[in-house]
Parts: sequence; structure tokens; C-alpha cells
Amino acid sequence: MSHIHDLIVIGGGLVGGAIAWGAQAKGASVVLLDEGDIAFRAARGNFGLVWVQSKGAGMPPYAHWTRQSAALWPDLAASLRATTGVDTALHQPGGLAFCLSDDEYEQRENMLRRMHNESGDIGTRMLSRQDVRAMVPGLGDKVTGASFCPIDGHASPLHLLRALHQALGPAYRPHQRTDRIDATPDSFTVHCGTTRYIAPRIVIAAGLGSRDLAPLVGLHMPVAPLQGQIIVTERIRKLLDYPTHLLRQTDEGTVMLGDSQEDVGFDLSTRVAVLQKIADRNTQIFPALKQASVIRMWAALRVMSPDGFPVYQQSVRYPGAFAATCHSGVTLAGAHALALAPAILAGTLPDILSAFASTRFGESIAA
Ligand SMILES: Cc1cc2nc3c(=O)[nH]c(=O)nc-3n(C[C@H](O)[C@H](O)[C@H](O)COP(=O)(O)OP(=O)(O)OC[C@H]3O[C@@H](n4cnc5c(N)ncnc54)[C@H](O)[C@@H]3O)c2cc1C
Repeated sequence: MSHIHDLIVIGGGLVGGAIAWGAQAKGASVVLLDEGDIAFRAARGNFGLVWVQSKGAGMPPYAHWTRQSAALWPDLAASLRATTGVDTALHQPGGLAFCLSDDEYEQRENMLRRMHNESGDIGTRMLSRQDVRAMVPGLGDKVTGASFCPIDGHASPLHLLRALHQALGPAYRPHQRTDRIDATPDSFTVHCGTTRYIAPRIVIAAGLGSRDLAPLVGLHMPVAPLQGQIIVTERIRKLLDYPTHLLRQTDEGTVMLGDSQEDVGFDLSTRVAVLQKIADRNTQIFPALKQASVIRMWAALRVMSPDGFPVYQQSVRYPGAFAATCHSGVTLAGAHALALAPAILAGTLPDILSAFASTRFGESIAA
């Protein structure tokens, strides 16, 4: 059986979902092909920050792209709510990153000053021990200060994913693993078992699966897994009004604690030593958390490029084929849906994305 569309997106995670929805919202006939439950899915294991303050140190285009996305997020949330009734639980009250020593405070201050010089002012500022206590009650003695950025926020990643899939309706096709892609100068044919999907444009947004799919359309996406572990507590009374880079309280009242970074290949098991480190740091910040019961913990795999920055690129050999991957799929959902998707439909990536071509890794594009 063959289906013909304007755009095929491979990978039904947050990156592919946002691009497919953005293209469909522009009137394109889209199909989003997703492997299913056996795949590694970063979109289902993440922390939910729409985080700006530290994104793009040493790479101003990433800082600007992230800021653009945070600014587009309210429109994305409103559109998804209007079409699906799903609340993505977006809040953008500003975000805090706590420091637990004078050294940490100094390092953070230096990093943010560098970013300010490289990428401009977004109102991020350092808060002294006294200032941060005045803003957030219940902090432990070890907190030496914090950075605060007024445009940071958070959302429910699972509600976002559900809203995107729901809004796409029958265009979202789970259990459609891409086995093969045939590329010609005019169109792409994707084979999923006995079904074929044909379109003049295709996006490879298959997370960790992109590495193998990209060469089929002349792209290079050298992504690798980086494990993160998360702890979730029971619902507790209001702990704080702001998301932080290590801890956030959801609308339901649970508190999510992170954030680890372990290079363990495709291993999805949690380890006590890692979870203990997460709990230690967060209970130093909020001692009251010691009383909260843990209800869940998990490990998930980030989709990381060699330098940690996104990859966006149109294939030189097969124009119409695009690569899209990043490790901040929640944060960048606004830009993916409302800026990247229209550009892909128009056939040209915006100038701001030229810095994200995978040629920066110095390897030749696969034939
Ligand atoms: C612990 C952790 C915490 C995180 N916290 C945050 C955060 O706070 N904020 C933030 O912005 N980001 C965060 N992220 C990152 C975010 O989750 C990812 O950037 C995002 O999920 C990546 O989405 P993706 O669509 O590229 O990949 P995935 O979500 O992995 O989706 C890829 C999809 O491709 C499909 N697929 C693979 N191969 C094929 C194939 N051959 N055919 C068809 N389909 C295929 C899979 O089924 C899968 O659904 C976090 C990630 C982790 C692991």
C-alpha cells in the first residue's frame, strides 16, 4: 500500500512531533512515522524544563535559537490547547540555578557573564545568599546563592507529547518502523514493512535512531546516548514557585529531582550511587525534601551530538531531506513547531540554523 504526502517525518518523539504538527498547522499533508514502544524514547523520560539561561555558552546561535523558542512556547501551548484541550502545563516564571559553594557561585557568575557578552542581555542575574533566601523560603544553609533568568520555565513533557500526537490525529502513525528509504531527485519513498510513504520532503528526527537513517538520504547525524536519571517524590505542599535546573515541582505537586549525566551506552538501568548523589544535592538545597517519599525513579537516554548542540541540515545530495536533532526537545518545541517546520516546507532553513550543520564535526557527509 502507498500513501502520498507533502512531508514525511520519521520519529514521533518531541522533535519529530513538533515539526510534524507545525507543518500540518501550515496546511501541509504530513505523516509522522514512529517506531513504537521498543524504541529508545527520550521524549518519555525527560525533566520538562523550558530552559534558557545556560543554553548556548560558546555558541551564540544556540542561545538565540533557544530564546526564540521560549518566546514561541506560549503560542504553541495555546494552539495545542485550543485544538486538543490538553494543557501542556507551561509556566514561565523565571528559573533558578542554585550554587552550593563559593566556587560554584563564581563559576556560574563567570559563565553567565561570558554568555551575556557573547549573546546579549536577557536579564539573567546572580542572587546573593540573602537575595535568594528572600525569594525562596526553606533553603538549606549550604546554598550560597543562585542565578535567576526571567524567561526560564517548565512544562509537562508527557502532556506536550500527547497534545502533539492528538493534534496530528491519523497523521501520527505508531508501529511504523522505517526499514528503508529510497531517495530520488524528486521524492523519497519510506518503507515500513509492506507500507510505503512517498513525499517530496522528509525529516529525519528519529532520536538515537537517526544515526542509521541519516546516511540513507545523504545526511550525517552522529548522535549517541547520554543517560540521565530522575527521582520523583509524592505530592507535597507547595515547595517553590520556580523551576530550577535540578528540581521542579509539577502542577500535580510531585517534585522531580535530577540531573545526572552518565556515559553508559544504551543502558537504561538506574544505579543507587547516582540516585543518592541526586538526592543528596537536592536535599542540601531543600532539607524539607528529606521527609518526602519517593514514588518513582527512572533512567532515560539523551540524544547527544558530539558537541552537545543541535543538528539541523538539508541534504546537499538529496535536497528536500532534513536532519533535526537536539538534546532539549522540550525547550526547543516552540521553535521546532513554529519556525523550523514552516522553513522545511518552504525548502530552506533560516540563516540562524547554518551554524548547526553536521559538517562542523569535520566528517564528510555520507553518500
Ligand atoms: C533524563 C532526561 C532529561 C531531560 N530533560 C530535558 C529538559 O528538562 N528539557 C528539555 O528541553 N529536554 C530535556 N531532555 C531532552 C529531551 O527529552 C529530548 O531532547 C527529546 O526528547 C528528544 O526528542 P527526539 O524526538 O529527538 O527523540 P526521542 O524522544 O528519543 O524520539 C525519537 C523517536 O524516533 C522513533 N524512531 C527511532 N528509530 C525509528 C525508525 N527507524 N523508524 C521510525 N521511528 C523511529 C522512536 O520510536 C522515538 O519515538 C531530557 C532528556 C533526558 C533523557
